[in-house]
Formats: sequence, C-alpha cells, structure tokens
Amino acid sequence: MLMRMVLAILIATFVCWLFSVLRRRLMKKRTSIANGEVVACTYCSLYVPLEESIILSERPYCSARHAELGSKK
Ligand SMILES: [Zn+2]
Repeated sequence: MLMRMVLAILIATFVCWLFSVLRRRLMKKRTSIANGEVVACTYCSLYVPLEESIILSERPYCSARHAELGSKK
C-alpha cells in the first residue's frame, strides 16, 4: 500500500514537471514570434522580418538589390 502511494506521488511529480517544461517551451516560442518585429521595405513596401532586412541610411530594405535601387533615388 505504502509503495503504491509513493509510486503515485512520484508519477504525479513527474507529470507536473513534464507539464511545466512543455509550458515553458511553448511560452518561449510564442514570445520569440511576438518579438519578431516586421518592417516594410522602403523600395517595394514588402514586409520582412527586421533581422532579415537590410538597413541602409536608417531605412529598411527587403534585399540588397532594393537597398541599392532605393539609395539611388
Ligand atoms: Zn523591396
């Protein structure tokens, strides 16, 4: 009887720990998406993630080609 109770407590603790780990992973994913800022290309107005954009003269561009064309204007 005591063994069963100990086993049940161990299983419950393990399940709780598993849920907290999974929840933390989900939260991390969600916040990383939410923090992913999107900017519009100065040349073609295409929306690109800030980390993938090319910043030239403090203006965001979607590609090197548009950065080149945009800076010539
Ligand atoms: Zn562009």
